[in-house]
Amino acid sequence: MQFRAFEPGIEVNGQTVWALVDGFQNKATPSRMLVEEGIGTLGPDGVVQLDREGWYSQEAWLRAFEKIFAALGPQALFNIGQRIPENAIFPKWVDGIDSGVRSIDVAYHLNHRKAGVVMYDPQTQAMLPGIGHYRYERPHPQKPLIVVECRNPYPCDFDRGILTAIARRFEPTASLVHLDEHRCRATGADACTYHVKW
Ligand SMILES: [Zn+2]
Repeated sequence: MQFRAFEPGIEVNGQTVWALVDGFQNKATPSRMLVEEGIGTLGPDGVVQLDREGWYSQEAWLRAFEKIFAALGPQALFNIGQRIPENAIFPKWVDGIDSGVRSIDVAYHLNHRKAGVVMYDPQTQAMLPGIGHYRYERPHPQKPLIVVECRNPYPCDFDRGILTAIARRFEPTASLVHLDEHRCRATGADACTYHVKW
């Protein structure tokens, strides 16, 4: 079910919240919805002021995200999702479509915190549970096909945008197909599965 936190008390960093706002041409609408949920303060230009190094309630962020989605629709969220990886700094080990897709789950956990602890530890590569995953699978090494399961509270359209952009960054012909449209977070399922082909 999109927009419902898996656990209470999780936090998301200000940089992640800003990346969403920054994707919009008109930043006033998403800004107002974030401030209404207690995230940041409204600047004189109507744009939300956030502490990029700070941490914010994931539940409040998801409530704001749901309002933004309701106001602007799935296509807007797909476009925003596509823009997220444009500005992302990838880890050094990312050198192709496989590591690119695998890096999403790492970045996802690095940008969330539980009980004050960042949910990915680069030293041990351990992840804390509580926000779900972006699961990567390459069923046949010879076949240009990656299966991604998004089991997390973020919206399907947003994740489709992120995945498409990352895949095309490394394989310009890549395309994404949603498997089993009836099993989708947008209609209450707890995960969506996609095929990335190129
Ligand atoms: Zn879906």
